[in-house]
Amino acid sequence: MNTDTICAISTAPGVGGIAVARVSGPRAIEIADRLWHSRRRLHEMPSHTCALGTVLDTRGEALDSAVATVFRAPASFTGDDVVELGVHGSAWVQRELIMALIGAGARLAEPGEFSRRAFAAGKMDLAQTEAVADLIASTSRAAHRMALSGMRGDFSKRIEDMRRQLVELAALLELELDFSEEDVEFASRERLTALAAEVRDSTARLADGFAAGQAIRTGVPVAIVGATNAGKSSILNALAGDDRAIVSDIHGTTRDVVEDTITVGDYTLRLSDTAGFRDTADAIEAMGIERSRRALGRAAIILLVVDTTAPDADVPWQDVVSTINEAPDTTLIVAANKCDLTGSACVQLPPEASRAIVIPTSAATGAGIDSLRDALANACRSLTAHTGDTLVANARHHQALRDASAAAARTVDALNAGIPGDLVAQDLRACIDALASITGAISTPEILATIFSRFCIGK
Ligand code: GDP
Repeated sequence: MNTDTICAISTAPGVGGIAVARVSGPRAIEIADRLWHSRRRLHEMPSHTCALGTVLDTRGEALDSAVATVFRAPASFTGDDVVELGVHGSAWVQRELIMALIGAGARLAEPGEFSRRAFAAGKMDLAQTEAVADLIASTSRAAHRMALSGMRGDFSKRIEDMRRQLVELAALLELELDFSEEDVEFASRERLTALAAEVRDSTARLADGFAAGQAIRTGVPVAIVGATNAGKSSILNALAGDDRAIVSDIHGTTRDVVEDTITVGDYTLRLSDTAGFRDTADAIEAMGIERSRRALGRAAIILLVVDTTAPDADVPWQDVVSTINEAPDTTLIVAANKCDLTGSACVQLPPEASRAIVIPTSAATGAGIDSLRDALANACRSLTAHTGDTLVANARHHQALRDASAAAARTVDALNAGIPGDLVAQDLRACIDALASITGAISTPEILATIFSRFCIGK
């Protein structure tokens, strides 16, 4: 039970049309009422209603006209009494409002404290609370969809279902240990083995989707590679729609990796325009080339720009082919560029790159750029096709899933080897704990502090 009342501006920092201060705690309504001037007192208002009035500053003078919304416990985000005060979004008004709330008895909320209270009140589990933060940060339809599903509890439900079934069997197994003299078997070994194997595989599958989940959340990494002067920067600019990268016809202009974020269809792409891969004596350019190689290694999609007017140019096939050999899930898209000059999309693909998608483009006229966008969006879609509908994008969840999967695998092995119940129970317990840490069914104050400190004040 919270004894103190917290307050913070919950809208984005800075100046805006409106700003909302949130007050939460047992004295929220009384405190907000102290600076509220209107015919309707807040303590008289039923839950989930709002009223127009004036908020007063610390000196009791009118600060701004405001809309107050009252949520009474337990039917609020945090489970406490909550008042939201919507004022005009001036930096001054926001500051004075918070000062007035503090003067009236509230204290400034810590980062993530509203969400932490929501979790403590059982309004949301830990994974759902973390999904709220992802939803707020989402920049594309796909990232939004993923966060919304997490916030609604789809992921939590899967984890909780697995955990509940394991707990049931673990309880039976532990009961057996109490009767160890009598050689009884309460927990069916067959059911236990089947369930542990299912948990091992489901958690491993969820963990495997992490790279795709992260790519959806923070942007799918795309490396633009190609010989110098092939038109990489121009293609990036055509995709991004502004003059982000430097374009010039002096070979080797792009010395560093230029990064840009664009939205294509439902996805955010993180494009890195890399330096060419030619051999060079220039130390700085060589460093750029090294960075390009690293960007290539990280990419989910390689966009290789080939100059169709220069068939003898130094296309970095070797780097591209060795990357797709090492990471066969990487999509290779070839932009057969400058087709305005050649009219042909003729690109000689080495046999190892035969599955590349070739698109004739002209960064100069814009021809083929829409097809290139479509190909990029399709590649993003296929990134998540094999991972199912639940995607994990949170590193903490990823680690816990891997731990759960490893413990479930040990359980299966132990059961198959006919190892005694007490040792099986240990692995089973480790698996249950790993799953419980995801939803917060088991959590320590330390873990909670680490998670919520990453939130901002007001969330
Ligand atoms: P990068 O070194 O691969 O990044 O190549 P740039 O984007 O800097 O382009 C090199 C030169 O080719 C510049 O002069 C561009 O204007 C020109 N260029 C790029 N794409 C096209 C194209 O599709 N058609 C034509 N005609 N010129 C292009």
